[in-house]
Amino acid sequence: MRTLVMKFGGTSVGTGAAMAQAAKGVSNAVEDGDRVVVVVSALSGVTDMLIDGAKSAADGNEDQYHKIADALRTRHRAMAAELIPDPTERKAVENAIEEHLAEFSRRCASVAVLRELTPRALDGIVSFGERLSARLFAAVLRGSGLRSEAIDATELIVTDDTFQHAVPLPDPTRDRIAARLTPLLDRGVIPVVTGFIGATASGVTTTLGRGGSDYTAAILGEMLGADAVWIFTDVDGVMTADPRIVPDARVIPVISYTEVGELAYFGAKVLHPRTIRPVIERGIPLWVKNTFNPDAPGTRIVRTPETTDGTVKAITVITDLTMVNVEGRGMIGVPGIAGRTFSAVARAGANVLMISQASSEQSICFVVPTKNAPAVVASLEEEFVRELVRQDIDRVWSQDGIVIISAVGTGMRGTPGIAGRIFGTLGRSGINVIAIAQGSSECSVSLVVAAADATAAVREIHKEVISNGR
Ligand code: ADP
Ligand code: ASP
Ligand code: MG
Repeated sequence: MRTLVMKFGGTSVGTGAAMAQAAKGVSNAVEDGDRVVVVVSALSGVTDMLIDGAKSAADGNEDQYHKIADALRTRHRAMAAELIPDPTERKAVENAIEEHLAEFSRRCASVAVLRELTPRALDGIVSFGERLSARLFAAVLRGSGLRSEAIDATELIVTDDTFQHAVPLPDPTRDRIAARLTPLLDRGVIPVVTGFIGATASGVTTTLGRGGSDYTAAILGEMLGADAVWIFTDVDGVMTADPRIVPDARVIPVISYTEVGELAYFGAKVLHPRTIRPVIERGIPLWVKNTFNPDAPGTRIVRTPETTDGTVKAITVITDLTMVNVEGRGMIGVPGIAGRTFSAVARAGANVLMISQASSEQSICFVVPTKNAPAVVASLEEEFVRELVRQDIDRVWSQDGIVIISAVGTGMRGTPGIAGRIFGTLGRSGINVIAIAQGSSECSVSLVVAAADATAAVREIHKEVISNGR
């Protein structure tokens, strides 16, 4: 008998029809004789709404979280009405919805009083999305004749207290899982575990970071020694590009852990790579599959890259970026400018996504998220105040509205000509390349273009290096 972890993302549980389909997938696995642990995300969009409610409360806007609680009540109740025929079962879920939303409102009220939203308070508030969806999903499974119980991962996943990005502690987590989940599985009960959340040893709710339900699935898979982890989403697997941008993107049948990491780093956040490493290292098969097309094989994530499949695996894009330039003829030969530049950027709390190839020694240019750009420029102007006065540095300036496009694939290593083909096709399409990435990694080439050119550039590059053969 296999043990399977089946994780359903927000869109896979976001409507009545979707959740019914997800539940069907679980029943099918059970019929095949598998022991199943389900992990669920909040219904699509709910985490964002909870965050919005909490932030508005901190700004003193109390209407907003009441409105959000109302909208969440309506949506969850409608799904309960659609999916849970048994009146007693439905009533129990409705009560749980009321209790959770009342607690959500209470917590937002206290944030509104304090006018301060700590990461700890925010984690408590956003946890209600998963708590609600797990209750609903377990009731739906019971309605289809299965034995199932909703479990808050606060009972299972013990983390440190880095709120918003908590790190699970393996030993106590393993013990809790063995004590709480294994007996359920032995009795034929399907646990429906909340993704994304955990708790400190003293019981304070934490979250594992956005998209963290994949992490939950991986932790459970690893700790239970599962036979497979299936990540269900709304596309057929990891694809050669975001299908919303490139309509003829294809599914990648096998991709390595490193490549998924590279894809995620460069914007294709289908899976959070850090989170799945333990599963891959233990050799547990991990698949990305489509809830709505269960017969499609999906993508298998493996430890060792397969490079025979060709050179470029996928094209990604990161949006909402700004390029910052530090420029001046006097910079040549002045030691330490680069070091001071990046220290100043780090002080502004910004993540540098790319350092571009300097067209000359007279400038340093790099890319940061637009939301951090004003702080970065201010920090640089402060750092170089003397150099600016002496005109060793002429100016620090930034350009908004840019994107980074990357071609990713381990097989690119040692395969010359990819960059040439990319620039050739962009040149023929009249798309201006603003900058090229310094080879930050051996298995990707990145370039910067204007946001207005992003879609066309991704499509052209995809056509050139993926659709038209390699
Ligand atoms: P979930 O809610 O199931 O966790 P996510 O929204 O986190 O789903 O991830 C799935 C989405 O990722 C897809 O709907 C797709 O639009 C987007 N995506 C971006 N790049 C890719 C890619 N290369 N392959 C597959 N999906 C991608
Ligand atoms: N609901 C959480 C989020 O939106 C976790 C997840 O979906 O994986 O980030
Ligand atoms: Mg996700």
